[in-house]
Amino acid sequence: MLFPNRCPYCNAVIEPEKPVCDECSFRFDPKPYIQRLPNGCTCISAFEHSGIQRKMMLDFKFHKKKHYYKSFAAVINILVKNEWGDIHFDYYTSVPAHKRKIKARGYDQTKIIAESAADLNCCKYRKLLVQVKNNRPQRELNAQERRENVKGVYEFSGKCDLVGKTILIIDDVITTGSTLLECTNTLLENGAKAVCCATVNCRSRSDED
Ligand SMILES: [Zn+2]
Repeated sequence: MLFPNRCPYCNAVIEPEKPVCDECSFRFDPKPYIQRLPNGCTCISAFEHSGIQRKMMLDFKFHKKKHYYKSFAAVINILVKNEWGDIHFDYYTSVPAHKRKIKARGYDQTKIIAESAADLNCCKYRKLLVQVKNNRPQRELNAQERRENVKGVYEFSGKCDLVGKTILIIDDVITTGSTLLECTNTLLENGAKAVCCATVNCRSRSDED
């Protein structure tokens, strides 16, 4: 196999359908962290953005460890099944990145997680949001600046009819929730019936880097 599936924790080659190797399975213990956004939408996250989970996320985003997406998709799928097993999601989507960043990185990191999670749950992935402005990275900003920084940054892609639809938005990390608030509002304003959010990691406000 040209690109074997590897354990994201120890890099051992593993079977294609497994998210981690047997030795590392003790680390792979997602606990749902639940947050409610100001518009009533709920976000669940699997891990705290610290320690090995933080390192994995940074390697995924900035150090070309693209293959971690499988493990992240698996963990989101576990959370969604446990927490929202009775909800039928019409579409999975992802928080979009700007074209320039996708080009520099070589992949759209949240899209590949969301597509893979949709596959695991037999749902459809659709690119419902586009980033129309290249804003400053949220991690450089405080809570109030974050809210300002994402205003008007996302628009509905217009690729399908959202009226009456239930949608799951996937992102990598939630910090203050400003980005997900903006994205969920955009989908609700365009007719979505309900929008839920799931992220791999969640960062507490005291742990900004
Ligand atoms: Zn391992």
